[in-house]
Formats: sequence, C-alpha cells, structure tokens
Amino acid sequence: MTKLARKLHERFLKQIHFKSDKYSTQDSVYLFTLYLAIAMVTVSCITNYIIGLADQVKILAFISDLILVFLYYLARFRQQFRLSKILFFILATVALNILWFYTEGSAGSAIFILHAMLPLIALFSSKRQSTTMVIIIATNIITLLIFEILYPQFINHYPSPVERALDILTISFFFLVFEIPAIIYINHLMLEEKRQAEQSDAAKTSYITNLSHEIRTPMNAILGFTELLSDPDLNREEHEQFLSIINQNGRQLLNLLNNIINISKLETNVTNVSVSEFHPIDVLKQVHDTMIPYFQANEEVQLKVTPVNGTPIAVKSDPTLIQQIILNLTFNAVKFTNNGVIEIGYSTNNQSITFFVKDTGIGIPPEMHNDIFSRHKQVESHNGLSPIQGSGLGLAICKGMTELLDGEIWFTSIVNEGSEFFVRIPLVSKK
Ligand code: ADP
Repeated sequence: MTKLARKLHERFLKQIHFKSDKYSTQDSVYLFTLYLAIAMVTVSCITNYIIGLADQVKILAFISDLILVFLYYLARFRQQFRLSKILFFILATVALNILWFYTEGSAGSAIFILHAMLPLIALFSSKRQSTTMVIIIATNIITLLIFEILYPQFINHYPSPVERALDILTISFFFLVFEIPAIIYINHLMLEEKRQAEQSDAAKTSYITNLSHEIRTPMNAILGFTELLSDPDLNREEHEQFLSIINQNGRQLLNLLNNIINISKLETNVTNVSVSEFHPIDVLKQVHDTMIPYFQANEEVQLKVTPVNGTPIAVKSDPTLIQQIILNLTFNAVKFTNNGVIEIGYSTNNQSITFFVKDTGIGIPPEMHNDIFSRHKQVESHNGLSPIQGSGLGLAICKGMTELLDGEIWFTSIVNEGSEFFVRIPLVSKK
C-alpha cells in the first residue's frame, strides 16, 4: 500500500513539474498556479454541491473552474502564456470584486484571497506586467474601500459572526493547502535555475579556454613555419612544404573564425536567409575548389564529387548557407579521415534535395551519436589524436543553418569504416 502511495505521489510530482527547456521559470510557476487553482476550485465545486449551497454559488464556482481549465489549455497546449495570464488576472480581479460585495467587504474573505494571490501573480508575470497588475489591484481595492465607507448599504453581511469566522477559516485553510506547495515548488525552481546558471558559466569558461587553444595552435604553426622560411639553406621542396603548412593552418584559422561568427549569428537570430535559384552542382564545385588544397597536402585521401544523375535541376534556397553546411561537413570528413575517399554529392525527389558527404574515416562511436550536434560541446577525441580536436562548433552550425532552411540533418556511421552525413532541403524554400 505504501509502495502504491509513493508511486502515485512520484507520478503526481512528475506530472506537475512543468520546468523543461520549453518553459521559463515564470511560465512554470504560472502553470503550477493554474494546476492548483483548478484543483482547489474543483474541490470547492464538490463541497458546494454536497453541503447544498445556493445555485448561484454552485454555478459561479463551476464556470470559474471551466474558465481555469480553458486558461490552462491556452498556456500549456497553445503556448499562449501572455493571453492566458492576462485573462487569469482579469478573472481573479472580477472574482475579488464580487466576493468583496458578497462577503462583508473589508471584513470578509476577499482580502485574504488578495494577500494569497498577489505574490503568485508577481512571481509568474514579467516585471512590467506585475507592476501594472499591482497598480490596478491597489486602485481597485482603494476604490472598493472608499465605496464601502460611502455606501455601506450595498455590502452584503454574513448572517452571523460564526458564519463569517467559518468562511474565513475555510478560505485560509484552502490557501494554506494551495500556497505551501506553490512556495516549495517555486523555491525548487529558483534553486534549479541558479544551479543551471552556474553550470552554464563553467561550461562557457572552459569553452573559451578551448577556443583560445584552437586559435593558438594554427597561429603557432603559421609563426613557426614563417620563421623557418627565412632560412637561406632551405631547398625548394622544403620551401613548398612549409608554405603548404602555413596555407593550411591559415585556412583552418579562417574557418574557425568564420564558425565563431556564424554561431553567434545563429544564437542571436541574425543569420539572413537569402533565397535564389541555383544549380546544386555549382555549390559542390565551390566546395571542391575550396577544399582542394587539403587534398593536395595529403595524397592518401581523395575528394570525389559524384556526377549528378539525371537532368540538372534548379533549387530555390540559400546557396551560401548550403555551401557553408557542405563545407563544414567536408572539412570534418577531411579532419577525421586518414586515407580513402571523401565523396560529396546529392540526390533529389519531387520535393527535396538531399546532399551527402561520405568519408572512409575513423567513424563516430554510438555513445557520441546523441551529442555531436550540440553547440558549445567540446567533443573528446575518439581518434587517439590530441584531446582537443576542433572547436565543437561545426556540426552545431550545420544543424542551425539546416533548420533555418526548413531542412533536416542526420548521419550514419560505423567506427573504423566511415561516416555519411545527409542534409535534406526543400527544393523550393518557403522563406
Ligand atoms: P569540431 O570542430 O570539434 O570537429 P564539430 O561540431 O564539427 O566540431 O564535430 C563534433 C564532433 O563530431 C567532432 O569532434 C568529432 O568527434 C565528430 N565528428 C564530426 N564529423 C565527423 C566525421 N566525419 N568523422 C568522425 N567524427 C566526426
């Protein structure tokens, strides 16, 4: 029995724990408030029915419950948090005013409800919203108080002091049951938010350290080999080899700096999508021309642009972004392939074009499959090379850009055999 109770309790907690990547802390508090409000009003609907209160009261409670369920639906399933919060505030204010007249004004239960509701409203609204709400409520209460002093005849009195005490006691009891879990939940959310902020701070610091390392390595190579070039005893072959190393490291550095700019543009939503009609083979040719120096430096690996099957087609999308994606994927293929072939190409159907970048490299172990598209993720080496290989930005950029083009990116990979990345883009962009 206790096992069953614990299980039910855990289920309940899981069900009402709204905090996820989808919701901000404020929105989670709001959903929790609604959840408890619905529970509370439903209980009072049943109680009203059992103790046989006046029909008016029963209907009012029932309508409030329906409205609360609707507000919950709006927020949770339609993501209309702003509208739902405003409607909730209006409903709470109207209920407060009715209660004020119905239950002896400032001597009744309305003022208790106000004290319980205000902190929650402030916690689930933005700073501006809660300031506006507090001003409206304060003005409303002052008006009600003045009205009560000037026109006491409009205020309904409890039949007896005992009924007044009972009403206030019931309301207070409800709010105790209602507010204590809310405060515990809010406390838990705040602590979780603080912990996440600390974690993300630490991740950013280590990320910056890694990036500096990524910049320093090619920089050192460029400076070191430039110095060596000034040696008058160098033969022609050595001279060319050093120049090629400088060139490669310069490109690597440029690629990294481009990636840093690209990721910050994606993160701040300022990446422009500029749609035009183009032939996909031209994109592949550009990638080929950009990458060819890497293949000249390593003759063990070949770059193959797969001949296009069928008639050449025109695609309406952003050629620059697609080129960046394929370039990043090809750059990775080069990095992780020691010998064999790297093949780039595409296939099409009526609606979409799927680019692929295939390599015969070291492959990606299954335990890394879920992680490799995450940004700011410094991936540990799985190839026996230095522990810091790359900035961990390339694939995150590919994913961000593919999504901007309403496309999909995925891969298949077998360790020690190779990987194949696919990017599917609609033939005609909706943007
Ligand atoms: P990085 O700049 O570190 O390469 P990416 O986001 O481009 O960052 O790639 C993330 C990780 O995914 C890499 O560190 C590597 O471990 C793995 N990876 C990506 N592409 C390949 C590939 N073609 N072959 C093997 N591993 C790959």
